[in-house]
Order: sequence, then structure tokens, then C-alpha cells
Amino acid sequence: MKRRDLIKTGTAMAVGFSFPVLSHGKQLDTVSGGIYDQLMREMDSMDIIDAHEHLIPEEKRISKQADVFTLFNHYVNCDLISAGIDPEDLRLVFNSDLPLQERWQKLEYYWNQIKYSSYAKCTRITVEKLYGIDDINVNTIEEISAKVANGNKPGLYQEIFDMCNIKYVIDQNGLTKMPDPIYSQMPLLQGSSFMIFATKKRFDKMCKEFNMEVTSLGDCMKLLDKQLSAWKEQGVVSIKIRTAPNVEPNAIEAEKRLQEMLKAGDWHIDNYQTMDPFNNYILHECMELAAEHDFVVSAHAGVWGDFRDMDSKDLLTLAIAHPETKYDLYHLGFPFIRDTIMIAKNNPNVYLNLCWTHILSQTQTNSALREIVDSVPLNKVSAFGGDFVGHVENIVGHLQMAKEDFAEVFAEEIQRGRFDFHEAVGILKQCFYDNPKNLYKLS
Ligand SMILES: [Zn+2]
Repeated sequence: MKRRDLIKTGTAMAVGFSFPVLSHGKQLDTVSGGIYDQLMREMDSMDIIDAHEHLIPEEKRISKQADVFTLFNHYVNCDLISAGIDPEDLRLVFNSDLPLQERWQKLEYYWNQIKYSSYAKCTRITVEKLYGIDDINVNTIEEISAKVANGNKPGLYQEIFDMCNIKYVIDQNGLTKMPDPIYSQMPLLQGSSFMIFATKKRFDKMCKEFNMEVTSLGDCMKLLDKQLSAWKEQGVVSIKIRTAPNVEPNAIEAEKRLQEMLKAGDWHIDNYQTMDPFNNYILHECMELAAEHDFVVSAHAGVWGDFRDMDSKDLLTLAIAHPETKYDLYHLGFPFIRDTIMIAKNNPNVYLNLCWTHILSQTQTNSALREIVDSVPLNKVSAFGGDFVGHVENIVGHLQMAKEDFAEVFAEEIQRGRFDFHEAVGILKQCFYDNPKNLYKLS
């Protein structure tokens, strides 16, 4: 069955999108193919929680000129870089003052190398679902750009959320984006919070804010406690860390290091130098305080750059040392996927959040999902988080790919007899909505 045959036209969006509804045909046999389609339809009518985003304020996003390349920024650009595009050429691609055709010439060769990857698939589905255009090429970029520009106006974010049935978006660093009204509605996640003493400037700012003089490690803990209380009142539901090597904290070494820093009068500790005795101590204490203040700790693991220092296994030290703290472990720890699954299986306080994963590699996420269903309690899985910054439209493509992964795996499992259709639908509702709602206590 051809994918093109499955496109049907649906309702138009208020901001002017013509919204064709896709049902991606997979090369499944007739029985599971039928179940696949039924599962996709069930998911299309479900409430969704987008369990992780970094959205910039809408006002900022729509103040910039938008075109087809807006949809390429974060993450298609990563694959273009990997394919070898000249960084200067890539800069020109994102220069909206230049003619579209000229910009397209800069990337066409590289686009053809990456257009079948999951990042590109996400953007291609987005373009197809939002604008009804089935390919991104030299002949379609003008039309796509006109449609992206047409949607680039107030209400864009809410239109995308409504179209996707998204009821909550857990957004990172929303406090810094106030007073944009969108963020006052959102459950917020505070980034790198345990590193709030990372620079002298930040440290001084906090001391001033909470009217404290800090001369000892004990004072630092009081300051941290006050900061977490303040965040709680402001609607923060989670604090975020990145997995990094860490050891059992040593208060004597940490105090010594703090006194050196105070004596030096200035310092900058890189956010993830968790082997620094002071940082390591703060990290561990912050895990304890997170439990006391009823915050989830969201933990980025794996994926980009030198991922050896972002190993999900480094969460084990924290998860075991602080059993009252709940950890939402992100991205399946790509590429340490099996380790990550086992960490969630073994530890009652570790959950799995599949944010970003469906577009990192749909194939790897799909096969991981089979292993998760086989081994991890199903109340611990959050199915979707877009993990986008300014290109909110791509949530549409990413959510579609998440649904495809679940539909494909669940259709096969129904056929195998692991569970029946109604049980499958119940599990899907849990993963796409109930689990993140319960974990983050959203109301
Ligand atoms: Zn993220």
C-alpha cells in the first residue's frame, strides 16, 4: 500500500493551515496493518502530554521572518552538518534576507543525503500534515515558505497544541520567558538547577535575592533550599540535570573547595564538572532537596557530542543514593539504550521519558519500545516530548512518528497475543497522558 494513497483531508486550522490528516502506511501484513490503522486512529483522538520542550516565547518566534528553513533549524541542521555542509553555507541557508533559491542551492546536495533520516522525516511529515505538500525540493520551497510565513502569527503555538490534542507542555526554563502568558499556563522545568553556584556572579545574585550572606557549605544549602521553595511557588514541577560522572559526596572536601573559591573572589565551574568536590556535593544535596520539595529530577542522558560523559549509567549513583527522589530519564540515553532500559527496570524511582527519541532514530526507538514493553513497568513510560526550541511546527511531525512507533510495536504485540486491542489502547493512554500527568503531578 502506498503512503500517498492514505492521505485524507481534514479540518482547516484557524491560522490558515490546510490540515490533511495522514495515516502512514507501513509494510505490515493485512491483519496487523488493520490494527495499526485502528491504533493510529485511537491515538489521534487521545489527549496528549508533551513531556519536554524548550520553546522560545511565541512573541520572539513570530517577530522573525519564517520560511521553509525555519523548520530545518534544530535538528535537520545537525544532520546537514554531519553530512559535511560548509558552516558558512549553512549560515547563509538560515539568512532570510537572501533569495530562497540561492539558499536552497547551498544545501540541496546535503539535503539529498539526509532526507531519509528521522530528523528529516519529522520535518517532511510536518510539511505534509500542515501544508499538504508531500516533498521538500527546489520546486516546493516557495510554496512551503509562503505557508510557513502565513502561520507565523499570534496563536501559532496554541494552534499547534490544539491540533495535536496537547493538554500540557512541560517547558524548560519557562521562568526566564515570563511574562509571555503561554508560560504562565505551563508546568515548568528548571534547567541545571544544581549548578546555581556555578559562577560567582550567579552566586552573588542569589545571595542578594534571598538576602543571605554565605560563608559556609551549610549556608549554601540554606540558599539552595530557599531557591527551590521559590521555584515551587512559581509553578516549577521539575529540576533538570545532565547525567555526568559523580561520586559519594564528601562534605569536608566540598567545604575546603568552597573556602578556596570564596578566598579567590571569583570562580566559574563548568556546569557538568560534577567531579569537582563542591559541585558533586551540591548535586547530591540537590537530589535530596528535590524529594523534600516534591520536584521530579529530569535527567538528560546521552545523544550529542562526546556522549561518553553523558552516560545514563551515571544516574545509578544518584538513583541509589537518593531513593526518595524520582528521576525521569530522558532520550533512552542514546546510544546507551539497553543500559537505560535496565536502569528503569531495576530502580523504582527511575522513569523513562521518550522525548526526542522518535526523531533521533525512529528505528532504534521502535526496537527499544519492544524491549520496554517486554521488561519495564508500563506506568513508568512517557511516550512523547518534542524537545524543540523555536520551530514549534515540528511537534506535528514528531508526534506523528511517536504514534507510528507505538502503533507498529503494539499491532505486532496484539498479534502475538501479549495483550488485546482494548488493553493496548489503555496502555497508550497511560504512556501519552496519564504517566507524565501522575509523575509530574499535573493538575
Ligand atoms: Zn531538551
